[in-house]
Amino acid sequence: MIKTIGVLTSGGDAPGMNAAVRAVVRAALKKGMTVYGLKRGYCGLLEDDIEPMDEMSVAGIISRGGTMLYTARSAEFRTEQGVLKAKATCEKYGLEGLVVIGGDGSFRGAADLSAHGILCVGLPGTIDNDIACTEYTIGYDTAMNTVVEMVDKLRDTCHSHDRCSVVEVMGRNAGHIALNTGVACGATFVLVPELPYDLDEVAKKMLETKKTGKQNFIVIVAEGIGHSELIAKTLEAKTGIEARATILGHVQRGGSPTLRDRVVASEMGYYAVELLENDIGNRVVGMQQGKIVDFDIQEALSMKKPFDEKLYQISNTISI
Ligand code: ATP
Repeated sequence: MIKTIGVLTSGGDAPGMNAAVRAVVRAALKKGMTVYGLKRGYCGLLEDDIEPMDEMSVAGIISRGGTMLYTARSAEFRTEQGVLKAKATCEKYGLEGLVVIGGDGSFRGAADLSAHGILCVGLPGTIDNDIACTEYTIGYDTAMNTVVEMVDKLRDTCHSHDRCSVVEVMGRNAGHIALNTGVACGATFVLVPELPYDLDEVAKKMLETKKTGKQNFIVIVAEGIGHSELIAKTLEAKTGIEARATILGHVQRGGSPTLRDRVVASEMGYYAVELLENDIGNRVVGMQQGKIVDFDIQEALSMKKPFDEKLYQISNTISI
């Protein structure tokens, strides 16, 4: 059985990463392993920024956003020389396994290290839910709840001024956050990169709705579409309804993780340790139909995530 493992967070931070780190550390310690925390993703391995972890190292963090291990992106690690340096650090500390909490890029790095004999297990940590092998990523629920809270506030002021609020939400090239928050906030329209859109259609819907007496509108724009200022100006010109753009930005990445993020992070962290305990590496942990499962990293990276077109259709049908 593996005796010593490391844990790191890499790429963009996401609420719930701390809960995952806690689960990894506590589960591994309970199984008699020694655990190290690597600071700032793969930089921790390259710069020898590593700390031993005990039960108390992760006390009090389950409710905290961000990541206590810090996170970073490392260009050096993407080189062969960087991977060899990282491997040498693993050998120095006796690290036989590594839990990598991050996105697809971090998993590619984990595959490289696995090829050099370090058993790596990836956990999906990103607010964007854009990892194909899993229906859920750690941080997604918290980020969406933050968006809902913000849009509800915008709705109040839109209502008072008979205004349209064009709200740009995160998601990188994926529209999952936009679609789900759009449904939850009763957005008139949701613009996502996965599907074509027509601002004439959006304007037409707003004008038709106006006839019913409703004069305030929310339009959610996914980051992958962008140009929310221009979209607001265009809608205002087409409808005569005052439209303002709000880019929610990094506020979506912060905050105390929701129950769902804490629980999923805990389950996935525990599962990762079970894999390592059985000498299984080069895997990514995911969720399929509510169950925690794992995939070969290359297989996981080659998968495609479907977009929920049915929910998009529902959104368009029930919103006015
Ligand atoms: P997010 O979705 O939040 O951006 P990510 O894990 O995809 O997370 P990246 O910046 O793509 O974020 O990757 C994080 C780190 O993983 C990089 O800084 C790099 O060190 C490593 N990495 C990324 N891509 C590769 C690759 N193709 N090969 C090896 N390592 C990689």
